[in-house]
Amino acid sequence: MEPTDADPAPTGEPSSENAAAPAAPTLSVVVPMFNEEDALVPLIDRLRPVLDALGEPYEVVAVDDGSADATAMLLHGARRVWPQLRVLRLRRNSGHQAALTAGLRRARGRYVVSIDADLQDPPEKIVDMLALARRDGLDVVYGVRDDRATDTAFKRHTAAAYYRLMRSLVGGWVPGQAGDFRLLSREVVDTLAQLPEHEPVYRLLVPSLGFRSGQVRYARAPRVAGTTKYPLARMLRLAWDSVTNFSAAPLRLATWLGLASFVFCLLMMLFGVIAYANDVTVPGWASLFVAVLLLGGVQLVCLGLLGEYIGRIYTAVQDRPRYLVASDSLLDPPGTPTRP
Ligand code: UDP
Ligand code: MG
Repeated sequence: MEPTDADPAPTGEPSSENAAAPAAPTLSVVVPMFNEEDALVPLIDRLRPVLDALGEPYEVVAVDDGSADATAMLLHGARRVWPQLRVLRLRRNSGHQAALTAGLRRARGRYVVSIDADLQDPPEKIVDMLALARRDGLDVVYGVRDDRATDTAFKRHTAAAYYRLMRSLVGGWVPGQAGDFRLLSREVVDTLAQLPEHEPVYRLLVPSLGFRSGQVRYARAPRVAGTTKYPLARMLRLAWDSVTNFSAAPLRLATWLGLASFVFCLLMMLFGVIAYANDVTVPGWASLFVAVLLLGGVQLVCLGLLGEYIGRIYTAVQDRPRYLVASDSLLDPPGTPTRP
């Protein structure tokens, strides 16, 4: 298969591309990056010594999520001096979770750690994660941000609200404050690859599988350079994907709203009859106007909710690839530059 294709449909078997590749390392570190030219050098400077000190075979899978800046060029340069660096380039910007998917599918390690490129998650904790997984025989180790003092108040509050909402909608098994810095065993990675998820939200998907898990706590650092790639619109998208992926509660809302307006209508009828019996005329146009508008609004919202879920079914049926891999430095013949 051409490396330009989307990743093969998950079969549970290692793909032929990977089978032909050099021996599998113990650890893969997947780093999705989108326009991270400023963070890249500090990242490499801090990540490499940590991984080299492990004394075990490793690979770093840098997923260039269609960056338009110098990220691709810098990665290409870094590869010359860091043989364990593997560069996966996606054809266009496909989003953080899709970039993670690409990295997870191609990673070959016995353990796979995903980490952001901006050094908000300390690479040193990878060592603790690996040690904990081995010591306790765990399949998942979450990085839990128990101190977000360096985040903006807005980010802290929206994040807290997000985890609260997920725990109430999805279930108490969702670990709070566990983002996308985590370690997975090969078994979990293979299980994930077999799921037919279209918009995977890993921070919910991984705990939903129920593998034995542990936590490593850390304080969230400020972004080392550059700006966040998660503006409000993308944060809302992630939250909405999380809700619709894991819960049909919004659909049930329509039932409850319908019931509530039915009960209200019965009460109003009763009120009307009593008023009529007592010779009281109720001037009605304002209340009619409000009732019609309110019900119209409620119906449109319910239709919209329905539409959101139908939209998901539609994308799932279309089954288009969420990302396309343009190049994978592991598969290119030696000496071929990574296509920027
Ligand atoms: N990212 C990506 N594709 C995107 C957006 C973000 O690969 O479309 C990467 C980004 O480069 C970073 C990680 O996802 O490594 C998390 O993004 P960011 O740090 O901007 O999010 P925040 O920490 O502000 O929530
Ligand atoms: Mg960040």
